[in-house]
Amino acid sequence: MNAEIIAVGTELLLGDILNSNAQYLSRELAGLGIGVYYQTCVGDNADRLFSAYEIAFGRADIVITTGGLGPTEDDLTKETAARYFGRELVMHDETMARIEEIFSSQGLTMIESNRKQALIPEGAQVLPNDNGTAPGILLEADGKIMIMIPGPPNELIPMFGKQVAPELAKRSGQTFVSTVMRLCGIGESSAEGRIKDLIDAQTNPTIAPYAKSFEVHFRLTAASGSREEGLAMIEPLKAELYKRFGQDIYAEDSTTMEATVCRLMAEQNLKLATAESCTGGVLASRIVDHPGASAVFLDGTITYSNDAKIARLGVKPETLEKFGAVSSETALEMAEGAARTSGADVGLSITGVAGPDGGSDEKPVGRVYIGVQAFGKSSAIEVNLKGDRDKIRARSAAIALDFLRRTLLNRG
Ligand code: ATP
Repeated sequence: MNAEIIAVGTELLLGDILNSNAQYLSRELAGLGIGVYYQTCVGDNADRLFSAYEIAFGRADIVITTGGLGPTEDDLTKETAARYFGRELVMHDETMARIEEIFSSQGLTMIESNRKQALIPEGAQVLPNDNGTAPGILLEADGKIMIMIPGPPNELIPMFGKQVAPELAKRSGQTFVSTVMRLCGIGESSAEGRIKDLIDAQTNPTIAPYAKSFEVHFRLTAASGSREEGLAMIEPLKAELYKRFGQDIYAEDSTTMEATVCRLMAEQNLKLATAESCTGGVLASRIVDHPGASAVFLDGTITYSNDAKIARLGVKPETLEKFGAVSSETALEMAEGAARTSGADVGLSITGVAGPDGGSDEKPVGRVYIGVQAFGKSSAIEVNLKGDRDKIRARSAAIALDFLRRTLLNRG
């Protein structure tokens, strides 16, 4: 089977938004073993959309569209599909009832144009939308499949995972099972280099590396007759990756770094406090992204000035004088101060030069020190990061979390 993606929307063509849906869908389809040879982007214009369908179905078995399912006049995806397949648009009562319910539960009045979202090409299958009003639509005719998905990624991604992928797998007669191995503290090219032999030899299961924000993820996918069989096929590959990467693998599937750190802290019955300078709360914010953070996270301090570091964390003026605010000595005293002043077992600190100004030959932009105080010991690392201010701050927080994770794992 091969598929083609058509992203619909003039704002995509104007460069107002990035076509991230095409990227997401291409990756997912590759993971399902479905080839994608063309991606098209077309504006909200009925004739051009019609010819995009003609061209796409001339080359592919499956056409997946994203966007243009909204209530307004310029949302034309399904109207054009109905015309292309020679089908009437008919009211889908269940969808209509759902849309009415969404409006009334939010205390909003439904306007007439919203009824348009409940119109479905005759004979099509409705893919309910848990996160918005426009349902997805699957239309099958003459051995061709057209799948229309709403444009907002927070609607498209769950709809693809929950409904579209199983439909495609059903038609291919195979079940696809995927596991994601999440790595931190290793660059993409180095990670890829270390699995080159596995990538070269892959058939089933497959292994695909992805660079994620400051992490590398390996997606392992097996195609088989059943879920159990697929999982069993992935196991030896997983074991091989654990052998090669050890602690660089911090979690599997959707478990985040912050969730992993919180779990390790909770398992060891420890409480955490953070002290941040250049990251200004990015680290604390990441920790509280995890819903279970309150079980382990006591306190987060932002001490941007030297005076604040002295007054709130007890950093010694001599330390700041002698080594500077950006130094491993200051990072250590910040971590110690965070733990001491909050009564936490573990203190984690960040101090650095985020730029674009403030760098020097001795302490260039991107120089960051991360300190950990735990188990009666404190230690600090120096990192030298590239990128703009936002990247340096985000990366510092990611490295700090990973440093804490490794400290917790290697407690000894
Ligand atoms: P709705 O029912 O919410 O109106 P829709 O299916 O009509 O959804 P569009 O109106 O085309 O979708 O797009 C809605 C929003 O979804 C866009 O403003 C944009 O934020 C996002 N979006 C649309 N297409 C894409 C795309 N290809 N990649 C990423 N985001 C997209």
